Amino acid sequence: MAEAAPLYDTYSRAPLRFERGEGVWLITESGERYLDFGAGVAVTSVGHGNPHVVAALKEQADKVWHLSNIYEIPGQERLAKRLTDATFADKVFFTNSGAEALECAIKTARRYQFSKGHPERFHIITFEGAFHGRTLATIAAGGQEKYLEGFGPKAPGFDQVPFGDIEAVRAAITDATAAILIEPVQGEGGVRPATTEFMKALRRICDENGLLLILDEVQTGVGRTGKLFAHEWSGITPDIMAVAKGIGGGFPLGACLATAEAASGMKAGTHGSTYGGNPLAMAVGSAVLDVILAEGFLEHVRDVALVFRQGLASLKDRYPDVIEDIRGEGLLLGVKAAVPSAELLQAIRAAHLLGVPAGDNVIRLLPPLVVTAEEAREGLARLERAAESIRAAKIKKTA
Ligand SMILES: *Cc1c(COP(=O)(O)O)cnc(C)c1O
Repeated sequence: MAEAAPLYDTYSRAPLRFERGEGVWLITESGERYLDFGAGVAVTSVGHGNPHVVAALKEQADKVWHLSNIYEIPGQERLAKRLTDATFADKVFFTNSGAEALECAIKTARRYQFSKGHPERFHIITFEGAFHGRTLATIAAGGQEKYLEGFGPKAPGFDQVPFGDIEAVRAAITDATAAILIEPVQGEGGVRPATTEFMKALRRICDENGLLLILDEVQTGVGRTGKLFAHEWSGITPDIMAVAKGIGGGFPLGACLATAEAASGMKAGTHGSTYGGNPLAMAVGSAVLDVILAEGFLEHVRDVALVFRQGLASLKDRYPDVIEDIRGEGLLLGVKAAVPSAELLQAIRAAHLLGVPAGDNVIRLLPPLVVTAEEAREGLARLERAAESIRAAKIKKTA
């Protein structure tokens, strides 16, 4: 505790001190093993200490750590080529985080409208319950009062409507609208998937009104939902997409992807980053993609996700007093608690299972994508123990 004092008090931290990670496991300083079904927050996609990724980082560390973007960087060109080959996109800008990827996405959309002779079109429609990061622009985009309070006037140009309400979207469009921004599955908002019909309708509305569709796939991307990107489930493609978290597997890396048309306003000098596209990050990102894009890997994610989800559904049936609902896609799963979610999170932690809090009384279970069916069943067994302990405590209270 004494050592923590010089840190900002911005986090209320769990009293756990991890020293090592191995695959889906985290090991504390005192040697206790925890099953890590938080994976950071959907970050360590290929597990802790993945040998292929560690080797790539070490190899690059021996060559060169840092190069300025005033030079050509072959690692960036290679990773951008792989990302554009695998997606709708033609262009990539590398960042160090999700919020920076969103900042680039927002700037790209505004600049597109500007370059088409519409500088007045800078508003972006966003959705209630959204989370897009903690910079001044992204807290305005997310629109959550708890993140905006006390930080001065909310950055202008973000118009928020209820999630899933297509009529509200139509009504919010004005001559100043540039784009629509949405997470295909709201993560922090409580693991709330947008329906296929809604995603298709947004695409149509953007096309009809000369708007750009921006997807925030920072949490849903890079295999998390069982497709390389979550929008593939709905059969539509965006104009711009923000990516981070899983793509670096734990190394700070994000990316803004766009079609050539959407990125056409981003000329030399319009944007930049000191560390974005750092050679170490490029080596890691490419090694992570080796794993995710390997033949059969996404099928593995879908198969394990099915096992895990069926197990969760069975737990919900057997413990309706503890678990109200199971939701999500692939290995981005939410357990809506029938008790305060903090209580459930505490109980699974006592069973040495790690999850992540979310809105709407949900805890997120986001195992590394390399999780095996056996490890998923181990997670289910621990969740069951947690549910059992909550039930036992309730019975004791009423007795
Ligand atoms: C985590 C997250 C962000 C912000 O990413 P940072 O790397 O923390 O800046 C943005 N959008 C979504 C959907 C996220 O889950």
